[in-house]
Amino acid sequence: MERAAALLRAARRVTVLSGAGISTESGIPDFRGPQGTWRRYDPDDFTYERFISMPEVRRRYWEWVRQVGPLFERAAPNAGHRAIAALWEQGRLEAIVTQNVDGLHQRAGVPHDRVIEIHGNGSRWRCLSCGARYDRAELLARAAVGEAVPECDRCGGVLKSGSVMFGEPIPHEALRAARAAAERCDCFLAVGSSLVVHPAAALPSQAKRAGAVLLIVNREPTPLDGLADAVVRGSAGAILPRLLEAPGT
Ligand code: NAD
Repeated sequence: MERAAALLRAARRVTVLSGAGISTESGIPDFRGPQGTWRRYDPDDFTYERFISMPEVRRRYWEWVRQVGPLFERAAPNAGHRAIAALWEQGRLEAIVTQNVDGLHQRAGVPHDRVIEIHGNGSRWRCLSCGARYDRAELLARAAVGEAVPECDRCGGVLKSGSVMFGEPIPHEALRAARAAAERCDCFLAVGSSLVVHPAAALPSQAKRAGAVLLIVNREPTPLDGLADAVVRGSAGAILPRLLEAPGT
């Protein structure tokens, strides 16, 4: 903890990589943690090819959306998000690269152009046939009154969330910006990520090669702990405010 705090105090340009773990304390479950989505759902149902071609996969996907969608809608930034926003206020935040699709960094006060959403954003949906746009809240309301799998009300097409599914390409510009942010920082802070999902999992090593120090904050071990200059094990909402000397909850 002390070593990580000292390294962060000395840092002038911090790039943060955040994963689903930073938002569990806002009530949104992660995928791979002990209460994660993969304990109850099949990752195959989150594969783009199967989702677009198989109605029964979309039905199972929507079971999950009906469960977690309201949690996303209700979630508010927690002390971890606010501590990172404080880095921005101090003028020391290069960028946040987030695997999250919940928009909570922006709602904590970080400008949109500093948040690189490499897996997109789950609140905006789109018809894959005609391009019509929908808010998740509107689709959840339709699902709540009996639509098992809401379809496009203009053309009957398949509706897909703006979050990137397995097998779907990462938005090119977001990936380019994420790599540039990893190269430009003097400190790379990975928070709440299992660091197994690529390409995000490659960014910490890339930052190290470019000369940055690497800090990891996570509840469980990650495959990159051995590469880090400091690892702090525990909850982001408790640790980040202390590490960054920002007010807690
Ligand atoms: P992951 O589920 O693979 O790993 C989360 C990690 O965070 C785990 O190692 C867990 O131990 C740790 N963790 C859980 N709560 C924590 C806390 N309070 N403090 C510190 N660590 C904590 O998540 P990932 O690495 O981001 O990859 C999963 C994918 O899931 C991402 O691609 C993301 O798009 C998607 N996802 C996003 C959200 C969201 O937007 N909030 C939620 C679920 C999944």
